[in-house]
Amino acid sequence: MDYESFFADKIDALHNEGRYRVFTPIARQKGNFPRALYHSPNGQKKEVTLWCSNDYLGMGQNPVVINAMHDAIDNYGSGAGGTRNISGTSPLHEQLEASVADLHQKQAGLIFSSGYTANQGALGVLASLLPECIIFSDEKNHASMIHGMKDSRAKIEIFKHNDANHLENLLKQYPASQAKIIAFESVYSMDGDIAPLKEFCDLAERYNALTYLDEVHAVGLYGAIGGGIAEQENLLHHIDVIEGTFGKAYGVMGGFVTGSNIIIDTIRSYASSFIFTTSLPPAVLAGALASVEYLKISSIELIRMQSNVMRFKKGLEKAGLPYLQGSSHIVPLIVGEPTCCKLLTDELLNKYSIYAQPINYPTVPRGTERMRLTATATHTHDDIDNFVNILADLYAENHIQLAQTA
Ligand code: PLP
Repeated sequence: MDYESFFADKIDALHNEGRYRVFTPIARQKGNFPRALYHSPNGQKKEVTLWCSNDYLGMGQNPVVINAMHDAIDNYGSGAGGTRNISGTSPLHEQLEASVADLHQKQAGLIFSSGYTANQGALGVLASLLPECIIFSDEKNHASMIHGMKDSRAKIEIFKHNDANHLENLLKQYPASQAKIIAFESVYSMDGDIAPLKEFCDLAERYNALTYLDEVHAVGLYGAIGGGIAEQENLLHHIDVIEGTFGKAYGVMGGFVTGSNIIIDTIRSYASSFIFTTSLPPAVLAGALASVEYLKISSIELIRMQSNVMRFKKGLEKAGLPYLQGSSHIVPLIVGEPTCCKLLTDELLNKYSIYAQPINYPTVPRGTERMRLTATATHTHDDIDNFVNILADLYAENHIQLAQTA
């Protein structure tokens, strides 16, 4: 077999569909977020404004976080030096796990290298250990949750996005005694909508199912201390396992799950993606810990972000631009076709020094290609108003091109 040409065909297929991923190298600059230096393919550098960052609150630039990371390197050095089981557990791991347990009012927390491996490991373990377990999974769940579910080899029932009636119809088909997990997110990353948590929790109680909630895009942002939508809706005690990340609102990296002592101990003891990997380094742990604790108290960043998001949504609305109206901070602006989506984002970057990444299939369904836009705490009113005006112009111009490429 000609392996090279086989794989070259696979790449060509992506090009032909207009969904070949092109990375955009940007150097974020301390103290200057949401500006960054774009390193263009021709070797030039220019300042751009980011409109697709998950550093929603600018915590990646926050001096409290940065100083904690510096101190950790000075005190402990660079790497963790091992897996959690073999010389890679430090007091910082334990402090951070206690901090996230407190965030969710749970008995225990467990840190993973990323939110992805947390979902993959935790869901995989729970569903594989429970005998004859059925997982009820929202159709828009993240790839990391799907990975964990597939790893578990449990039966998966997919319910329509955020649809409690459909979920109940599926739950009804199985005996009360059968093990069940309902897996869902709170804030959906690509649509910006929020799940009906209370309805799902009620169903879980009625049908005796475990609840597994991904709060990756909500921790640090919702609830009195940043516990997420479950905290905001006073439902923390109705969710069995909550998963989150330090990589988005907290501005660092790493993932975590929280739950009862027994459930977390089970995940700790069985999840390969937790056990067989070098643990997070001291600087990352210290930065994450500083960020989580800081946002339990501070609300300035959040208030700024919320008011910017509101201004941005109002601007888009006034300009008649097709954004998906959800109640979260994420603003998906629909383009509906991958080539045009790329064309728009290229033009934003090259002509207007604005960086927004095109989002294509399989991240979103074909025909719903979009820009996933985020107004952070650090954007100015001018940034927002200018961007809306530019988008309005681009949409007007490119409607013609959309029609031509279709
Ligand atoms: N869950 C959801 C809903 C996400 O959007 C993401 C990240 O993109 C993850 C999990 C994975 O989190 P992390 O980036 O920390 O790996």
